[in-house]
Amino acid sequence: MAAGACSLSAQGLNRGSSGNIGVRLASSFLVTPSGVPAEELSADAMVEMDFSGAVIGAGRPSSEWRFHRDILLARPEIGAVVHTHSRYATTLACLQRDIPAFHYMIAVAGGDTIRCAPYALFGTQELSDLALLALQARKACLLGNHGMIALGADLPAALALAVEVEALCAQYWSALQIGEPHLLSSSQMREVLEKFKGYGRQAGADTKGRA
Ligand code: 13P
Ligand code: ZN
Repeated sequence: MAAGACSLSAQGLNRGSSGNIGVRLASSFLVTPSGVPAEELSADAMVEMDFSGAVIGAGRPSSEWRFHRDILLARPEIGAVVHTHSRYATTLACLQRDIPAFHYMIAVAGGDTIRCAPYALFGTQELSDLALLALQARKACLLGNHGMIALGADLPAALALAVEVEALCAQYWSALQIGEPHLLSSSQMREVLEKFKGYGRQAGADTKGRA
C-alpha cells in the first residue's frame, strides 16, 4: 500500500497527504493513516479497522475510512479502493458533471458514463453515501468539488483504473478546449461493454511463445 501511494504521487495523481487507499483483509481492512504524505508511509503505518469502524491496534485512519469501509461492505467483488485529487478528474469534478461516453474506454469503469457525486464535506457519512450511489454498477466515480474514487479486485487493478480514469478526464478536458466532443450512442457503448468481457490476457493461459 505504501508503494501504491508513492506510485500515485510519482505519477502526479496525488500530492502531499491528499488521497488515500483502502485494502480488504479476510475480515477487516487496512487504510492509509490520515494526513501522512505518501513518501513518509511505511507498511507498518497502515491502520487496520473492522467493519464497524473500530481501529484494530493503533493509528489514526484516513478521514475517509467511512467510504473505504462502506464500499468494501457493499461490494464483495472489490478488494481495493483508491482515492485521488488528481488534476483532471478533480477539474471536471469541480463542474459536477458526469463524464459522458466521449471515448469507448469510459467502459473500463463499468458503464457508459462515469458519474459525479454531488459535493459533501470530506470525511463524512454523507460523502460516503453519495459516493456509493455514484458507484452503482461502476468501478469509478468523481466526487463533486473534490476528486475521484477508483475500485479494483485488488490494489494493482484499482491503481491502474485510477490512472486510466485520470487519462480519460485529461482527454475529455482537452477535447472540450477545441469543441463539443461527439458522444458514442448507448448501443455503441453496449457493444464495447460486451467486447470488454473477452478482452485481455487469458486467465491462467500459458502465454509463452505467443505473439
Ligand atoms: P486523509 O489524509 O485523512 O486520508 O485525507 C485526505 C483526503 O483526500 C480527504 O478527502
Ligand atoms: Zn480527498
